[in-house]
Amino acid sequence: MGRDSYEAAIAGLKKLLSEEEGLEEAAAAKIKQITAELGGEKGWSSPCDAIQQIKKGFHFFKTEKFDKDPELYKALAESQHPKFMVFACSDSRVSPSHVLDFQPGDAFMVRNIANLVPPYDKLRYSGTGAAIEYAVLSLNVKNILVIGHSRCGGIRGLMELPPGPPSNFVEEWVRIGIPAKEKVIAEHGHLDLDTQCRYCEKEAVNLSLRNLLSYPFVVDGVKDKTLTLMGGYYDFVLGKFDLWGLDLTLIPPISI
Ligand SMILES: [Zn+2]
Repeated sequence: MGRDSYEAAIAGLKKLLSEEEGLEEAAAAKIKQITAELGGEKGWSSPCDAIQQIKKGFHFFKTEKFDKDPELYKALAESQHPKFMVFACSDSRVSPSHVLDFQPGDAFMVRNIANLVPPYDKLRYSGTGAAIEYAVLSLNVKNILVIGHSRCGGIRGLMELPPGPPSNFVEEWVRIGIPAKEKVIAEHGHLDLDTQCRYCEKEAVNLSLRNLLSYPFVVDGVKDKTLTLMGGYYDFVLGKFDLWGLDLTLIPPISI
């Protein structure tokens, strides 16, 4: 955050809190605390747990990984040649680097609510489109892997979408998965909601694989056999990972 916008935010916060009668003292104390937590003039001197965790985490990475593999990080400083592009959920429990032991340089990643790949749309989904375009055309990734996961809050949100227009960002975003939801309801609508969610977590991956085929450069890569599309499912309850190919009729799922 720039210094000007930081000052403006603090001033706005002060005004907001001071408008409540009798809260001037509390406001001043709160602002002092927030300022201290953000570092203030002394930089990284706050005892805030979050800052300590970041410092400790980077220290571990620097001393145990970066400094111990100079060749890798020297090469990565020059360029990247990731083998994978990965779509994964933003959920804090499913980091692909952790679950699949990806090392720096292995995977070009997009993480979002419910690991959804939207269909090709330059106006609505330019962020995702830019990432796919860059991965395929500039980095020449050989594999695109979409990973779903157990107990996905985004997929539950999709299954419980209220009727009518979306009322927030999440509702608008998960609507990408409606075709998957409709398939699950048609085939498993008689089952309880939890079970339907499990089916939809996997069906949404298949939908994303199909949506990838709406990007012309992805289709070209698949046709030329320079690009492989794969679906994955990480079950963090059972500690299992399933992997399957784009064409389910030709490539049966395998469990790892
Ligand atoms: Zn999720």
